[in-house]
Amino acid sequence: MRRILVAGNWKMNKDIRESLELVKKISYAVNDISVRDILVCPPYTSLSAVHELVKDTNIKLGAQNLFWEESGAYTGEISASMLKSAGCEYVIIGHSERRQYFGETEETVNKRVKKALESGLKPIICVGETLQEREGSITEKVVDKQIRGAFEGLSEADCDTIIVAYEPVWAIGTGKTATPDDANNVHKFIRNLLKELYNENVAEKMVILYGGSVKPDNAAELFAMEDIDGGLVGGASLKSDDFIALIKAGIE
Ligand code: PEP
Repeated sequence: MRRILVAGNWKMNKDIRESLELVKKISYAVNDISVRDILVCPPYTSLSAVHELVKDTNIKLGAQNLFWEESGAYTGEISASMLKSAGCEYVIIGHSERRQYFGETEETVNKRVKKALESGLKPIICVGETLQEREGSITEKVVDKQIRGAFEGLSEADCDTIIVAYEPVWAIGTGKTATPDDANNVHKFIRNLLKELYNENVAEKMVILYGGSVKPDNAAELFAMEDIDGGLVGGASLKSDDFIALIKAGIE
């Protein structure tokens, strides 16, 4: 049985003081929620401080990227062991903003995923088509290539801790959301592809998040879809009231 995961990607927002302020409010409001998994992914500079606050709570901690080398002359990069020492359990990999602005490719996504797994971090692999690709009716072709690329060389056991996030690029930060049916169709496509690449068990166990302008007023409907197992949330994860409402969305 897959559990709903509500994950906040804070992107390049919130300094240390602001991060603590936000996570305190969230933690206070959701500390009795056991039916959902909750994750925050603050910027690197806030990780340690946020970890101190959430380590004994039901909120998990993740980073927004990692580099595949262990250490060395890679100015500006961050390693898996550094993230682990800051208390991270998860790491977002291949977010469309990394693909768009920082030259992330299928190959580099795959290297990062392998490093995360080798280090005991749970990768959240992001995939999704651009508006042009959707309008050109090649969503499935694009997602197929991204999934095959990210999972290249990974074993069935590796899949145990992987999460996939389907994030149509045209829906990120734009206020436009895929309809629950459209999103669910792509999630189903991803699940079928995992069945083809691995087997039914891997496909059925895989948590597949939807991302792209998830808001308190559309979350319950999205999370209720058969193949949508929660959300990766940008903008709405920066406002405590919105994120708290998202975490609680659809809970009876
Ligand atoms: C994201 O960045 O992963 C995202 C989905 O952003 P937003 O919720 O703001 O669209």
